Amino acid sequence: MSGSVSVSVSASLKPGASPGPIMEMPMVMPMVEIDHLSLWYGAKLALKDISMSIPKHRVTAYIGPSGCGKSTLLRCLNRMNDLVDGVRVAGNIRIGGTDIHDPALDVTDLRKRVGMVFQKSNPFPKSIFENVAYGPRILGVRNQSDLEGIVERSLKGAALWDEVHDRLRESALGLSGGQQQRLCIARAIAVEPDVLLMDEPCSALDPIATAKIEELMLDLKNSYTIVIVTHNMQQAARVAENTGFFLNGKMVEFDSTHKIFTNPKDKRTEDYITGRFG
Ligand code: ADP
Ligand code: MG
Repeated sequence: MSGSVSVSVSASLKPGASPGPIMEMPMVMPMVEIDHLSLWYGAKLALKDISMSIPKHRVTAYIGPSGCGKSTLLRCLNRMNDLVDGVRVAGNIRIGGTDIHDPALDVTDLRKRVGMVFQKSNPFPKSIFENVAYGPRILGVRNQSDLEGIVERSLKGAALWDEVHDRLRESALGLSGGQQQRLCIARAIAVEPDVLLMDEPCSALDPIATAKIEELMLDLKNSYTIVIVTHNMQQAARVAENTGFFLNGKMVEFDSTHKIFTNPKDKRTEDYITGRFG
């Protein structure tokens, strides 16, 4: 269940996990287990031997300077890097216990289970309804009243229903930036993923739209496991239980957000969060 006990969790408690530093983190079931993951773009090593366990129904934040590999790591979780020429990956990732590099795995099914929301909201040039119904339709939902139910549930889940329920047939492109981003969240949750990846979802939004998305995340984590990349350290502090700090493709430190921001173990983390570099 989602009960969390604050104990000292060592990697040895998790079967199959690699040895790692002992961290003060709440013990909850891992949803994503990353095990000695490295990634190369051609000859360039962009992720260096990353191991971490992402707990279920929690928000995990990735922070670090531009180019340190945050988006690359996020894209590993739904194998979006497969679409990039010359990418090579070593190590393992398990999501809900399934090895996502298993040759027998259906990548489309993986991307259904691991949804993604990008920095720049990218609604399709279709109606609000069709944007949300898109994924379920691809998965074979044909019945109109089923689709209507999914669209309503997803828009409510993304805290957008009240603003758009009377104009579902209008173009999604007529929505404000913040509404478009919540529509993209509704589109992602319409297929009921296990994990929701968010790559700087608020960096193009004003503070009010940002606050709405942050509030929404706190609600969404009851149903989904969220991994968010953010440049905004206050945002990580507000929404994430756990935070990983990355530098040059390496995970320098991963711990409870409170620990990372109040008492980091590594000098480089401290320098970053206090604004001494980055
Ligand atoms: P971040 O999201 O932390 O800013 P990225 O994951 O985008 O970092 O990038 C990590 C490194 O990998 C950078 O050096 C970047 O230039 C490189 N990189 C990212 N995407 C590609 C790509 N498609 N091809 C080649 N190199 C890439
Ligand atoms: Mg990025």
